This record gives sequence, C-alpha cells and structure tokens, in this order.
Amino acid sequence: MSNEELDKLRQDLDEVNQELLTLINKRAQLVQDIGGIKQQQGMNRFDPVRERDMLDSITQNNDGPFENSTIQHIFKEIFKAGLELQEDDHRKALLVSRKKKPEDTVITIKGETIGDGNPHFIMGPCAVESYDQVAQVAEAVKGEGLKLLRGGAFKPRSSPYDFQGLGLEGLKILKQVADEYDLAVISEIVNPADIETAVDYVDVIQIGARNMQNFELLKAAGRVNKPVLLKRGMSATISEFINAAEYIISQGNENIILCERGIRTYEKATRNTLDISSVPILKQETHLPVFVDVTHSTGRRDLLLPTAKAAMAVGADGVMAEVHPDPAVALSDSAQQMDIETFKKFINELR
Ligand code: PEP
Ligand code: MN
Repeated sequence: MSNEELDKLRQDLDEVNQELLTLINKRAQLVQDIGGIKQQQGMNRFDPVRERDMLDSITQNNDGPFENSTIQHIFKEIFKAGLELQEDDHRKALLVSRKKKPEDTVITIKGETIGDGNPHFIMGPCAVESYDQVAQVAEAVKGEGLKLLRGGAFKPRSSPYDFQGLGLEGLKILKQVADEYDLAVISEIVNPADIETAVDYVDVIQIGARNMQNFELLKAAGRVNKPVLLKRGMSATISEFINAAEYIISQGNENIILCERGIRTYEKATRNTLDISSVPILKQETHLPVFVDVTHSTGRRDLLLPTAKAAMAVGADGVMAEVHPDPAVALSDSAQQMDIETFKKFINELR
C-alpha cells in the first residue's frame, strides 16, 4: 500500500471520528431533552425496558465486523454516559471532593488552625478515667505548647465486659480540664442521641472506626455546628471513608477532619496496618484535613515515632496519639499509650 493510500484512509478515519463525535453529542442532547420531559412528568430517568429495546434493535441491525457483544458493550457505555449527564451535580462531584472545592478546608479550633499546612497534634488518654488522670496529661500537653486534648468518655470496646468509659461524667471532666488549661477537647460520641449534649462539652466530636458507617450518627453530627473528626472504619475502603464524610457534609457541617487509623489485614505484627498511602490519596481527592492516629494503627509504642514521621512526610495535617500518666494501669489500650516523659520526647522529635 502506498503512503498516499494510507494517508487517505487516515483522513477518512478522522472524518468518521468527527461524525461519531457529532452523533454522540447529538444523542446526548436528545437524551437531555427526554430527561427534561421525564422530570416534568415525575418519571424515572433510567428505563431498563426501553434500554433493552434499543439494544435489541441495534444488534438486529448489526452487520459487523463487530460482534454483537462488542456492539452491546459500546452502546451500553454510551447509554451510561447519557444517564450520567442527567444526574444531579452531587452525583458527579461530592461536596467533600477537591473537584467541588479546590482549596483546602481550614478548621479553627480555639485558635488552632487545622489544615493550614503546619502539623497539629491531638494527644491524650485512650479513656477518661478520672479528673487527676486527665489533668496530668493536660498539663503536659499544655507544657509542650499544644492545644488539642483527646479522651474517650464513651468507649466502644470489643468486649461488653471491658471498661465502657465514664459517659457524661467523662465529658464533664474533659470540659473542666479544658477550661482550666485553656485546651480544646475531642471525644468520641457513639449514640446519635448524645450529639446534642456533647456539643456543650467538647470542641470536636470524634466518630470512631466502628461507627464510620453508622449513618444516623453521621447525619446527626452533620446537623450540628461543631467540627467532627471522622476515623476510617477498620475494613473501609477509601471510597467508603470519603462517602462517610459526605454524609456529614451533606447535612451542612463542613468542618470535618479525616483520620486514618489503620485497617485490618492479615498482618499480625501490628494491631492494624497503617495505610499510609491513604493520606496523599485523601488529600488529593478531598479538601479536608487528614490526620493519622499512630496509636490505634500500630498498637505498638515503639512504632509511634517512626509512623508519625511517615505521616508528616506524606503530608498529613496532624497526628493523634495516646498519652497516659501511667500506661501500665490504664483501663484501656494499656500496651500502646505513651507515658508523659515518652510523650515529651515524641513531640520534640517531631518538631
Ligand atoms: C479512639 O480513638 O479512642 C478509638 C477507639 O479509635 P478507633 O475508633 O480508631 O478504634
Ligand atoms: Mn485507645
């Protein structure tokens, strides 16, 4: 075949592409017009019977060289694109997505600006056990110039016979300590009915890994004017995690911090497997600040510092870790909390 012939064929192909493009867009226009009428009449846009009829008639008229299955596949994609064109905006771009909002969300909590590009730390005991226990940690946190104190009042435990937390009493202790030391407190809420009450005691509502898909809890947290720290479920994909955050933002609350806390894998050397790559993925795909909880992801004191360094290196907005005045006697997560001296070294290594 001469070069001339080849050029001619290529030219023809370019023309066909152009025609296809025009036809595909013409089809899209028709689909939109039909969609508009269906909407007026309150009809469902997706009509599987009509789609089946169209596919049948297309394959009946197919003279090849493409096989019917190939033709069906191609047209199915065209149908799908048409349907997507009609779907509401929010189906295309989630409210938490960068596509929807390119700039970073910055959340101000008692003067601490999370998501501003500087690292932030959320430190404190696994569970609130007593006023003295929380106050000792608060003093150390304050002493290091930090602002965010954590402590669980409602503890979701694997066994119903383990310490379940002090409940409202725990929130009261947190509030008292926060007021005395001028700190902001973050605490987990497990029951949607407790969200309204929690707002009076905490500065950030935590939704824990076990509740990441408790949709009623997510919606309740979305209806209040209080930042939410949402932890990744232990078996949740990144997409499920993002959608859980969407549940919160869809109710109006835009102040959400995502927290990677490790996922369950076959690996037994650590309590969970820290999915460090989720951090840059979440930063790319959403505009929300991303934290890494090094305590629950590793379950090992010796790994807190290296994983915290890794978190900061991949662009996390902050790190969460547990600190207890005497970890050996802690009522929960005794093996993985830092004592106060270790905490001080930890913070200073990271700065
Ligand atoms: C916690 O942070 O107190 C906690 C229980 O963590 P997670 O929900 O990630 O297990
Ligand atoms: Mn814990």
